[in-house]
Amino acid sequence: MKIYISSDIEGVTGVVSWEHSTEKGSRDYEVMRRRMTNEVAAAANAALESGAGEVVVADSHANSTNLIHEDLPKKVKLIQGTQRPLSMMEGVDESFAAAMFVGYHSMRNTLHGTLNHSFSGRSIYEIRLNGNPIGEFGLNAAMAGVFGVPVIFASGDRALCEEAQELIPGIITVETKRGIGMIAAESLHPEVSCELIKSGAAEAVANKGNMKPYRIEGEVHLEIDFVRTGHADAAGSMPRVERISPKGLACKAADYTEAYQALRTLINLASTFPLQ
Ligand SMILES: [Zn+2]
Repeated sequence: MKIYISSDIEGVTGVVSWEHSTEKGSRDYEVMRRRMTNEVAAAANAALESGAGEVVVADSHANSTNLIHEDLPKKVKLIQGTQRPLSMMEGVDESFAAAMFVGYHSMRNTLHGTLNHSFSGRSIYEIRLNGNPIGEFGLNAAMAGVFGVPVIFASGDRALCEEAQELIPGIITVETKRGIGMIAAESLHPEVSCELIKSGAAEAVANKGNMKPYRIEGEVHLEIDFVRTGHADAAGSMPRVERISPKGLACKAADYTEAYQALRTLINLASTFPLQ
């Protein structure tokens, strides 16, 4: 049995500011990347102790060079670095029995969602798939679904847990902190957070037979509302993209994988807008 883990940092206990999660010039970043590593290790150890022969972890925050490999279990293979075809889900395929998301956060515009955003805090206001607002959790869960892999576990703040349970009923979630505002939260002690993640992830593996992949079938209608008209100008040069409002673009994708890759490309193009 192989288990796939996608890991972010904004949902890790105690991470409440953008400085906590950025590598450059942050006093606390070194502390927070250790916490992220420990939370991922807790989930990986639970998977290994529950019978997994191999765990693949995707380091999926910012430059994706956050996790400290020697502090993860020996059977963990670690994917790091950027410009990956499947972005936060690089490495997932049909060989995995299940996926887990550790350190995740809620989509942009979520009340009490600590550090809520959707891929890019600078340029993205809202992403909709077939008319429904969706964030990183849902978009990445659907990417696992393309390969028939169910997402069985997620950890992050309370708002992330609620978002996960609404999209995937029955998923096991662990709340590492209770968001008070966008840059405030009441957090568990780091050791307690790891203990809960370990027991929750073990429960999730035991329950995985009851979980189905989250699939978005057929043609996909993708819409993005950017923060500025300039972001839409920059991204709007992509073929088959339609301007639906001053700050909004839409495109029809033949299937979910194409929609996911179109979304990543549009975000990359929007990032070329100079005033951010
Ligand atoms: Zn992140």
